[in-house]
Amino acid sequence: MRLLIAEDEPTLQAQLLRLVGEAGYAADATGDGVDAEYRGMSEDFDAVVLDLGLPGRDGLAVLRAWREAGRAMPVLVLTARGAWHEKVVGMDAGADDYLAKPFHGPELLARLRALIRRSAGLPSPRLRCGNVSLDTRSGRVTLDDEEISLTAHEYRLLHYLMHRPGSIVSRAELTEHLYAQDFDRDSNTIEVFVGRLRKKLGAARIQTVRGLGYRIAPDD
Ligand code: CA
Repeated sequence: MRLLIAEDEPTLQAQLLRLVGEAGYAADATGDGVDAEYRGMSEDFDAVVLDLGLPGRDGLAVLRAWREAGRAMPVLVLTARGAWHEKVVGMDAGADDYLAKPFHGPELLARLRALIRRSAGLPSPRLRCGNVSLDTRSGRVTLDDEEISLTAHEYRLLHYLMHRPGSIVSRAELTEHLYAQDFDRDSNTIEVFVGRLRKKLGAARIQTVRGLGYRIAPDD
């Protein structure tokens, strides 16, 4: 999952990047409203953390522009503490959730998990595809109730696929959603990680759809 962090305060931006990075997300950051708007229009993020007070273009205008253009990614707005009216206009402008500054890291992560889950139409934080289960809260993956150890990259890939059970996901989509923009993206590495996941989870779990991409089997 890849996030856009739009926050102009350098210390907070760095804290947010570290927080979501440690939680396994790829993330791009910007401190400018015009750049944030452009990125949200031109790239597919799984969720956006949007500060309302951005230089260049304020967060509300950015959010309204995205929604008017039909951009549907989940957006969590960061508001000033006690500014209840900011929450109201933020939600009315198309925000999916808000958090007042200062906030606690675990709360931000929980809200992001819920937003991403809901936008995928999944009711439970515990994802299940046949005998494979992934708990998005703890990061624990099990096969037939036995815990499986995955590397960070393997986990990210499985996490993305399990949010789209039964759907074909192209290599280009995986590359875009698993790596930040400044990461050296090489779509061949996706194939390597798929191979490793198949060894750990059973070869039939992740199917190759020739010429199109991969699909995780939702059932056994
Ligand atoms: Ca700000």
